[in-house]
Amino acid sequence: MRIVLLGAPGSGKGTQAQRLIEKFGVPQISTGDLLRAAVVAGTPLGLHAKATMDAGKLVDDATMLGIIRERLAAPDAAHGYILDGFPRTIPQADGLNALLTEIGQPLQAVVLMEVDSEQLFRRLTGRRTCRECGRVFNVYTALPSVPPPCGGRCETPDLFQRPDDSEATIGKRLDVYAAQTRPLVDYYGDRGLLARVDAEGDIDLVTARLEAALAAASAGR
Ligand code: AMP
Repeated sequence: MRIVLLGAPGSGKGTQAQRLIEKFGVPQISTGDLLRAAVVAGTPLGLHAKATMDAGKLVDDATMLGIIRERLAAPDAAHGYILDGFPRTIPQADGLNALLTEIGQPLQAVVLMEVDSEQLFRRLTGRRTCRECGRVFNVYTALPSVPPPCGGRCETPDLFQRPDDSEATIGKRLDVYAAQTRPLVDYYGDRGLLARVDAEGDIDLVTARLEAALAAASAGR
């Protein structure tokens, strides 16, 4: 399985990718997670990316393509992957296309996770991550306790808000999505790879819709 989850920040790409990896046994490749790990580790990449990320802007295409080229060469990606947050621009999509053509492993589907913008704002402002296990919660939807407990895996939930989930930065990220990433809907639509999924509502329901869309995409080729 070689797929891309496409969608605005807060559309649930990461949450749904986590569920697909369990079912399909392929890794989730989140460029946002890779960059955040580099920031925490203080590597040259992290130092390069931090200010851009905090401002809600996109890290340059050459850097992102370098990261993806390296990550896709890792042994665990040999049998497929779920790309989450990449590509985000047309040059990134072209670069990915060239890379995958070179190794003879084209993408199988690109799934657009559709969520209304008011919902996106609410999801992003409510998002919290556990410092211990990295799992993501939402103070609005992960009820009944607010903030929610860490699912029992971590002894003391230590939830934090991503710096780029501040209200000031969210608007910027949604604008960047509309201007630079949304054009990928037509890009992949024109190539016959796009499937659309209604990503609003119950998480299990969205997973079921996503799995149905992937089954339809694989039956169609
Ligand atoms: P995410 O976790 O996917 O929302 O990504 C968080 C931030 O990392 C984004 O707002 C960007 O600053 C940066 N980022 C992640 N993926 C990419 C990408 N494919 N291209 C450029 N910047 C990215």
